[in-house]
Amino acid sequence: LFIVFEGGEGAGKSTQARALSDWLTARGFEVVATREPGATPLGRQIRSLILDHSDDAPSARSEALLYAADRAHHVATVIRPALERGAIVVCDRYIDSSLAYQGAGRDLAPEDIEWLSRWATAELVPDLVILLDVDPSIGLTRVGDRGAVDRLEAESREFHERVRRAFLDRAATDPRRYLVLDAGSSAAMLSDRIKVRVAPLLKV
Ligand code: C5P
Repeated sequence: LFIVFEGGEGAGKSTQARALSDWLTARGFEVVATREPGATPLGRQIRSLILDHSDDAPSARSEALLYAADRAHHVATVIRPALERGAIVVCDRYIDSSLAYQGAGRDLAPEDIEWLSRWATAELVPDLVILLDVDPSIGLTRVGDRGAVDRLEAESREFHERVRRAFLDRAATDPRRYLVLDAGSSAAMLSDRIKVRVAPLLKV
């Protein structure tokens, strides 16, 4: 079972991913909690190539390829092996983040990003995507980490609006595979709704 959390900055993805992972672990499942970008040693190097530049920012296409390289390695070395041994994988960000940030955000054709991601992952798609939808003006004020705030302030509000819209449009194409939640709800309410959605997917 492969579950992905998606959403904009400050949506609370990592909190909810952790809560779900803890709940599944307590129920006796092997859980691999992971994230993009940068879950592996190679991925961390790629993450820093993308995010920690000062004066040599990657071009939009170069950034898309770096995210795809991170994802290809992550799927091949972490996600697919875990799924093959029967573990539940809970991943913070996946293909939809690329469609939202590299596609809508950076204005690359969504069909190119989709193709690239599918190639990178050898067609591994999640069983469930939980989209925590947040108004960018609220999400951005919730982001505490200073480096992230600096990075985010470099992007326009309009950029984050495009990203949000792309996540929502994507979710609307396949309602059975998506759970869209208002990230403004309390953490406890969100995690309850997530458990209700995940429970029927568990084989016990
Ligand atoms: O999820 P996390 O906050 O660690 O992501 C780090 C940053 O990477 C985010 O600020 C997001 O803007 C960016 N990102 C991206 N494209 C992706 C994944 C993340 O631009 N595919």
